[in-house]
Formats: sequence, structure tokens, C-alpha cells
Amino acid sequence: MPILFFFLLFFSVHSQEDTPIARFRRYLQFNTAHPNPNYADPISFLVSQANSIGLQSQTLELTPSKPVLLLTWPGSNPSLHSVLFNSHLDSVPAEPSKWSHPPFAATLTPDGKIYARGAQDDKCIAMQYLEAIRNLKARGFIPLRTVHISYVPDEEIGGFDGSAKFVTSREFEDLNVGFVLDEGQASTGDEFRVFYADRSPWGLKIKASGAPGHGSRMYDNGAMENLMKSVEVITKFRESQFDVIKAGEAMNSEVVSVNPVYLKAGIPSPSGFVMNVQPSEAEAGFDLRLPPTVDPDLIKRRIAEEWGPARRNMTYMIIEKGPIRD
Ligand SMILES: [Zn+2]
Repeated sequence: MPILFFFLLFFSVHSQEDTPIARFRRYLQFNTAHPNPNYADPISFLVSQANSIGLQSQTLELTPSKPVLLLTWPGSNPSLHSVLFNSHLDSVPAEPSKWSHPPFAATLTPDGKIYARGAQDDKCIAMQYLEAIRNLKARGFIPLRTVHISYVPDEEIGGFDGSAKFVTSREFEDLNVGFVLDEGQASTGDEFRVFYADRSPWGLKIKASGAPGHGSRMYDNGAMENLMKSVEVITKFRESQFDVIKAGEAMNSEVVSVNPVYLKAGIPSPSGFVMNVQPSEAEAGFDLRLPPTVDPDLIKRRIAEEWGPARRNMTYMIIEKGPIRD
């Protein structure tokens, strides 16, 4: 009995442990994955954390059942522009059967690793803000500027009911924000890299046209042949960028990434595709990401001259999904 009592005591103390790691794991245990993220419970948890370190909190229901949580640490000069730290509440879906540990158990392994969906993207940031403030407050620090932390919903599905509504709200305007820090890349060391620009996402469609022909004939300038030549050239470029990452000379975000996303060609038949005709059109789509350090005109020239050249009867379309922000 005494031994059992000891264990019960040990585990109950252990489960109520209040350390940064324990608090982080508790936050990870809320299932915030799409398509049905739980927003209410993590928000009550964050509010209780905010209360415990003396931050003000308010919940904005800009969209029903998609709350934005706002925490505030008043500065000594509230007339100055404030500082806003943002993070999102939601996570991408997880397939539990493909995980070594349940995605919302926040299992801590003996080697110190914590397994949870959303741990890096971006629940660690959410908790780091609070832990940093907790430490600063314990040292008696009072910020000059007011500091706000926002926890927004729906970032992983475009943020239309989250950030997009928040930044156009009267409540946001009242914050008088002068500087915002948002999520970035998780760090494996003690340093925290801050980025002030984001990669520019492009969609690229290249299309080849050429005379159709019988499947038995070899001739030049077929649409499929020309498209495949471009795919080869693009694949070489992709490898040249990926090699730099593999050699440890750059981060993923510092090279031009290009990845094929679709191929469209062939003449459909009831059983699949006509197998003895070379089609007159073939198309491929790519996802490109340009770091702010890359000149977009150089990539455009490369696309025009090598990836979708008119001399191979090709056309292309670049869909610029956002400007390079620098
Ligand atoms: Zn994220």
C-alpha cells in the first residue's frame, strides 16, 4: 500500500507539474486540426495562462465560433505604437495511423522529444510569447510600448475568417500597432532567426502545342516531346537548387523552389487514354517560391527562354500570388 500511495502521489504531482514544458504539452493536447479545429478549449487555456501572469484578455467573435484571442500587456507609454505578436490556433490535419505517437497526446519521449501535430506550426510560438513575458514580468520588467498577443483561427485555410477580418476590424485599429512579429521557422538551437520578408509564391503553367500524329511515327516538335524537354530542364534547375540545401549551404527558404503539381495531356478514351495517338497539346503546372533575394525578372527570363520557349511552340502563364514583401 505505501508503495502504491507513493506512485499515486508521484503521478498526481507529476501530472499537475507547472513548468514551461508541461504548459506547452497541455497546449499541444487540444485537437486544433482542420476540418474541425477545437478553438474554445485552447482559448480558455490561454486565458488562464494570461490571468496567471497578469495579462489582460479579450475574445473577439468576428466570425461566429471562430474567435480571435487578444492578450495585452500595457506599456509605460501607451501613446506610442504598440508591438503585436501573432500566432495561429489551428493546425493542418494529422493521420494518426501514420504517426509513431498519437498526434494530440504530446508524448514526451525519454530523449526529450515531444510529438504533436502543430508543435512547430505554430503552437511553440504561441507558448514562447507567454513564457518570455512570464520571465520578463518575474524580473520586474515593464515595457515602454504596450505589447499585444493575438491568437487567430483558420490560418491554415487562408485566414479569411481569422487574420483577414481581424486586421480590418475597429478593435485592430485601436491597438495602434507599429510592429508585428508572426510565425517563422522553428529553430533546433538557441538562436531564433527573424525574417522581415516572405517568399513570393508563383503558379506556373507551361503548355506545348504541336501537330498530332500517329503513335507509331517519330517526328519532331510534337507537343508531348516539347513538354518533356521543358520538364527535363526544369527538373535540372530544381536539382541545382535542392543540392544547395542538401549540402547545408542554404535553408529551404533561401533558394528558388520549383515543384511539379500537375500534368495534363493525352486523348481520353472510355478505358483511359487513346494509346496510339500523339496529342496536339500538353500542359504542366509548377509551384514556384522565390526568396526576396532573387530577382524575379531573371526567373521570368529563364521561363521565357528555357522553360516555355516560343521556339518549341510553347506558351506559359505565371500566376503571381503575392508580391515579394521586403
Ligand atoms: Zn503556421
